[in-house]
Amino acid sequence: MSKKKQPEANAESEEKLEKMQEEEPIIEKPAEGLAVELGEVKEIEEVIVEEVKKKDAFEKSSWKPKTSFGIKVKNAEIANIDYALDQRIKILEPEIVDALVPRLATELLMVGQAKGKFGGGQKRIFKQTQKKTAEGNKPKFATFAVIGDENGHVGIGYGKSKETVPAREKAIRQAKLNIIKIKRGCGNWRCGCGDAHTVPFKVVGKSGSVVMTLEPAPKGTGLIIEKECQKILKLAGIKDVWSKAEGQTRSKLNVLYACFSALEKLMQFKISQANTESLHIVEGSLTA
Ligand SMILES: [Zn+2]
Repeated sequence: MSKKKQPEANAESEEKLEKMQEEEPIIEKPAEGLAVELGEVKEIEEVIVEEVKKKDAFEKSSWKPKTSFGIKVKNAEIANIDYALDQRIKILEPEIVDALVPRLATELLMVGQAKGKFGGGQKRIFKQTQKKTAEGNKPKFATFAVIGDENGHVGIGYGKSKETVPAREKAIRQAKLNIIKIKRGCGNWRCGCGDAHTVPFKVVGKSGSVVMTLEPAPKGTGLIIEKECQKILKLAGIKDVWSKAEGQTRSKLNVLYACFSALEKLMQFKISQANTESLHIVEGSLTA
């Protein structure tokens, strides 16, 4: 009897929850119907890049920090992201990362697929899902963002929304809040160049059934890993790596999470001073 009403109630509470998570309305909505047609997504992607750039510039100038750490950053009392990461201060405002990490780059990963019989299957940055309701199909968009300075700092985030723009916004915001510091070095016995170009030692990350192993590779090897993971490693500042992915690697999200979780392991191992020197390990950014 009451079964018919429940989906509605669920949808409502889900909406409320989403609103709470968003904290504040992020961006003007695109023109009506813009995000709906499957075939139009690619054109929209270009529009979004423009819109987000404008919005970023606006927000940087008008940022009003809400946390005490944010206020310190805005007042330039803290000038290094490593301070927050070392002290395990939880970063709650993405603007902190904007302010403290110079040359922060953003990339969206291909986690979606175009639909359709013949042109279908192409990779897209938006993953589309649909919920069937009485009013018709409700599309949702999800996207996966990576941010990094190509110098020892990297973060990933996943965003979902009814529109493409807020999905992208959420993903980037989340990626900034998830920023980590990594260790790099010259961990390969065949190399010994002394530069911090690869992972200094073997690390293993897991997500779902996927197990990702990253291993030190000699200089010039390149990133021997799945294409979207390459983007994560590149933004982290790793130039050479060997890798192995086991499990259900068709599940793209788990592959990406496993790759990031391997990077997180880099800071979790305590390395002796002697090994730090012999593997030429650098924590975080290389200073010129
Ligand atoms: Zn080397």
